[in-house]
Amino acid sequence: MAKEEEYDKLPDKDAAKEFYAKYEPKEILGRGISSTVRRCIEKETGKEFAAKIIDLSNDDSSLEATRQEISILRIVAGHPYIIELQDVFESSTFIFLVFELCKHGELFDYLTSVVALSEKKTRYIMKQVFEGVHHIHSKGVVHRDLKPENILLDDNLNVKITDFGFAKKLENEELLHDLCGTPGYLAPETLKTNMFEDFPGYSFEVDIWACGVIMYTLLVGCPPFWHRKQMIMLRNIMDGKYSFTSPEWADISEAPKDLIRKLLVVDPKQRISVSEALRHEFFQAVHLWDQDIMSLKESLKKSSRRYSRISELTLKLQQSKFNPRRKFQMAILFVRAMIRIQRLRFTPEPLSLDTARIDPYRVKLLRKVVDGCAFRVYGHWVKKGEGQNRAALFENTPKTELKHIYVTNLSR
Ligand code: ADP
Ligand code: MG
Repeated sequence: MAKEEEYDKLPDKDAAKEFYAKYEPKEILGRGISSTVRRCIEKETGKEFAAKIIDLSNDDSSLEATRQEISILRIVAGHPYIIELQDVFESSTFIFLVFELCKHGELFDYLTSVVALSEKKTRYIMKQVFEGVHHIHSKGVVHRDLKPENILLDDNLNVKITDFGFAKKLENEELLHDLCGTPGYLAPETLKTNMFEDFPGYSFEVDIWACGVIMYTLLVGCPPFWHRKQMIMLRNIMDGKYSFTSPEWADISEAPKDLIRKLLVVDPKQRISVSEALRHEFFQAVHLWDQDIMSLKESLKKSSRRYSRISELTLKLQQSKFNPRRKFQMAILFVRAMIRIQRLRFTPEPLSLDTARIDPYRVKLLRKVVDGCAFRVYGHWVKKGEGQNRAALFENTPKTELKHIYVTNLSR
């Protein structure tokens, strides 16, 4: 995020003597509408933290909103995938929130640097996101602004859900009505609540919808709902109109698509729950990232067990005299193996020179080269037509302006 104004004037030292006595502020890590996040060092220990410095002078509502954010942060504290609030300093003009530092920054920046994530990495990240969301919901809190910018990565590339600025603690079956969040991640029921008088309101399920949008975006590097005209985008959200038709999806297996289909369900009552999502087939595969040796070891163990079963069976067959049942089992194993081998010939992408000439973007290898070049030149993905557009990820409208934009679009 913005680092260009590293030498910005720091808040008046007198306003927060305590903070400055304890911490040494360093460069800017990120910015919000009325906040700046800086790396800082605890003087006594030399340990690094991130300080979110909120300017109260512009806006009367900031104080109340920040107090609300602090109270929620305390409710959801103590989970490995939720950001930990270490310290709070409040002065009349500034509030300082000191958080654990996430050295690897936003998932958004990581995604930008790699364009899209493999299924394995998506599984690794989304499992943690769902576990974090499960914890947040178990405390009766709804986040309401889940997106890759608010998911940070720590030293071990583990997820830390942050920015509880819009989060709300719900009291018994309470429904929410306000329009807040970031356009591309808004759930249909959030929009409908604000459009139709008789719509009852929304609840926890909006976070599950946002997880669906995040997961889609991670896998292909562009959002499911995007249109040059924002009103059409909002309509597509309300109709749940998205597709897996772009070429990137051809290389992605069925399990993640199935999970996304169950997450991006328009009716919140029919939408998959967080626990169900965690039990989904997509998370049952041997998961995790390349550097995760434990999981790799486990996967090896599992496959060797499978081999040993097959060899046991063969051995038994050899030892025993003719046994029609075993022979039948063996025949099935043989047929299955043949089918697998035959499929292998078809799985790799056909490298046809014709396809490469007419539509190079369809060929995975060339697609990577094309995207890589576009990235180096433009800093973001420049892509086709009116539908999907990766550049949309860089156009996230600041959340407080959403209401204004929404109203303007509605009146068109
Ligand atoms: P806002 O409510 O203004 O969006 P956030 O809490 O999301 O504020 O922080 C803004 C940005 O600052 C984040 O998107 C991220 O880039 C950076 N940031 C926030 N907290 C941390 C942290 N603990 N470690 C590293 N970077 C952080
Ligand atoms: Mg944020």
